[in-house]
Amino acid sequence: MSTLNKQFSIEEITGIYNLPFLDLIFEAAKVHREHHDPNKIQISSLISIKTGGCPEDCSYCPQAARYNTKIEGNDLMSVSQVKAQALRAKSAGSSRVCLGAAWRNVKDGEDFDQVLEMVRSITKLDMEVCCTLGMLTENQAKRLEEAGLYAYNHNIDSSEDYYKEIISTRSFEDRVETIGNVRKTSITLCSGGIIGMGESVEDRIGMLRTLANMYPQPESVPINALVPVEGTPLEDQDPVSIFEMVRMVATARIVLPKTQVRLSAGRTQMSQEGQTLCFLAGANSIFAGDKLLTTPNPDINADMKLFDLLGIVPQEPFEKYPKRNPIDPEHSTPSAQEKPRWSRPGHQIEKNILASKKAKEENN
Ligand code: SF4
Repeated sequence: MSTLNKQFSIEEITGIYNLPFLDLIFEAAKVHREHHDPNKIQISSLISIKTGGCPEDCSYCPQAARYNTKIEGNDLMSVSQVKAQALRAKSAGSSRVCLGAAWRNVKDGEDFDQVLEMVRSITKLDMEVCCTLGMLTENQAKRLEEAGLYAYNHNIDSSEDYYKEIISTRSFEDRVETIGNVRKTSITLCSGGIIGMGESVEDRIGMLRTLANMYPQPESVPINALVPVEGTPLEDQDPVSIFEMVRMVATARIVLPKTQVRLSAGRTQMSQEGQTLCFLAGANSIFAGDKLLTTPNPDINADMKLFDLLGIVPQEPFEKYPKRNPIDPEHSTPSAQEKPRWSRPGHQIEKNILASKKAKEENN
């Protein structure tokens, strides 16, 4: 099944997603072997460089300031703290570090300069650096490129239709605009989504279609299973089954043949056998560390035991795309400051309204 550079219809992806389960895994495994070494999996580490207090209202996220969750927030970490964590991750087998900041968008100034310095110093450790900092202008994307950034993560989360049911403070078009700004540079794109937020199978397929029909396709696609957190509007969602997760991974593998498909949040709910099925279906990256930003994640020792059991070895950094060396800030070229046109569309999130009604009733 060759699907490289193909534009997919909803019907085509639906047909793949609904294949008999064993046929789906078999087809996905064939595509996987054509484009990747099936016995190599990349270990990535997430560092929450600025936690909590976010002005956005993503219904799944405990870092949104408006939800009453029990996470501990922190201001932007220092470059030396982040570098020390990256070194620890490297010695535990990680070849990629993702730096996450709970911001609506990047603001030029001291904090952004500090993030650029983090990117430079971790790139010098010979690790792939990915950032997820919210919305970006073209100029900011170019500054990150000059700092040597390898990847920028900006998830589309769900289908375009379902997006407004989970986030009201920005629009799907805002997401696409930032992705476009990243694509004006040589930074690779990481973009995926979350299942288990109450979306339909059609929404999952719609999300995969948006990702698969991007040209070029994202180099990295994280597939997350919602980890419901108390205090968020999605706290009562039922967990997704391993079969839904495997279907999602296998379909992603077939429609995104060269992409690094990443098992992300929700791995603690999966058995070793379940994770192995995901690897067979084409997942070729996991996130390591006991926390994924703010939610629990399997212990690295358990991951290494599973790798040993399966004969899997960690993927080296820059195996898929070449490294770029940072440019000295004194020779930086981007200077123009653009005015972003990001929206605040003001949709209403039904689940948020219900949650606030419930809270009021409980207080009375
Ligand atoms: S997902 Fe990101 S943008 Fe949304 S509330 Fe959480 S930190 Fe903010």
